[in-house]
Amino acid sequence: MDNAATTALDPLVLEAMMPYLTADYANASGSYKPASLARSAVNKARAAIAAFIGAEPDEIFFTSGGTESDNMALRGTVSAYGTKDRRFPLITDSIEHPAVSETVKNLEKEGLADVKRIMPDNEGFIQVQELKSLLKNRQVKDGVSQNVCGLLSIMHANNEIGSINDIAGLSAEAHAAGYLVHTDAVQTLGHIPVDVNSLGADLLSASAHKLAGPKGVGLLYVRRGTRINCLFGGGGQEKGLRSGTYNTAGIVGFGKAVELAAVRMQEDAAYVQKLREKLVAGIMAAIPGTIITGPVSGTDGARLPGNASFAFRNVRGSSLVIGLDMKGICASTGSACAAGSLSPSHVLEVLRIPSDYINGSLRLTLSRNNTEEEVDKVIAAVTDEVRKLRDIFGAE
Ligand code: PLP
Repeated sequence: MDNAATTALDPLVLEAMMPYLTADYANASGSYKPASLARSAVNKARAAIAAFIGAEPDEIFFTSGGTESDNMALRGTVSAYGTKDRRFPLITDSIEHPAVSETVKNLEKEGLADVKRIMPDNEGFIQVQELKSLLKNRQVKDGVSQNVCGLLSIMHANNEIGSINDIAGLSAEAHAAGYLVHTDAVQTLGHIPVDVNSLGADLLSASAHKLAGPKGVGLLYVRRGTRINCLFGGGGQEKGLRSGTYNTAGIVGFGKAVELAAVRMQEDAAYVQKLREKLVAGIMAAIPGTIITGPVSGTDGARLPGNASFAFRNVRGSSLVIGLDMKGICASTGSACAAGSLSPSHVLEVLRIPSDYINGSLRLTLSRNNTEEEVDKVIAAVTDEVRKLRDIFGAE
């Protein structure tokens, strides 16, 4: 029930990877036959992934995962476009994954970026109107022309509450103001359609382990013509943008995971959404004092198909997660990174959740491997644990 944290490696992905972990282990940059075999496997994966997101193969750069891709997108463009005498304008929002928000904070501290953060609405969406007024104010205030270059970084979908942003609408506004657009699509690739052209993304981050691929491999899409500097020097792989020996098996696994998603995504999304609806209806009916966090208005297109997130009145989410763990259910209070901390999730704080609910968050994220029987078991377990915790503290 924590598939937003990571997914199980699909057996077909493992099968595709195996040769590159065993006999065909050559370094893909070598100049002998086994190396060229590894190189063609990397490039086959690159082509499959590019086709899946509407990109050209030479616009795909393999990395070690979503975190690196986000760092590379932000630091690489700020470094390429920034000048010594002017901090680079950067607009983001206040509920990004730490891979973006911490990097932005660091760029701000280092005096490299001039940052503005958009607050989401109560359901977690970043409204185009908010960006519009920010861009208008910024241009008047800064006294700069329409063509000033800056960077907008807004996540495609939020990892805690599953809200899917209108990246196309946001990027149209950003482009009109001369801003580049980066989107963190780590939670969306393979789950809902991701097309760099319909989204209007100049840069896009993704990670294989969120779509039944292996951990430790990701990508950054960089639209042709976008300037970007490398984060570290080395052997010059990936056209000098991302040095380091190719993770051939990982990249092949990523390619296979994308190939599978291209065939299964629509059916899986419908299945997982049906499970999600059953889960939400069951929990809402069984447990008084429960609210849904994130999108509530409608379902299609507003929320990631497998994401269900709740807040329970007078319950500590971290205790709830421990109780569920004892029953063999893996859940989270929010993002994996926020778990373990006793302070409320930064996402929920921003969403104006009532104070008696703010500590009671629970995120359940489903995949194609979950079943209706599991959903029934989870509804019963959550109901039981919430009741127990409320009894202990004499709360309602
Ligand atoms: N961005 C988002 C939205 C995520 O959910 C995650 C992982 O949870 C990341 C970035 C980091 O990706 P990775 O684990 O591949 O570094």
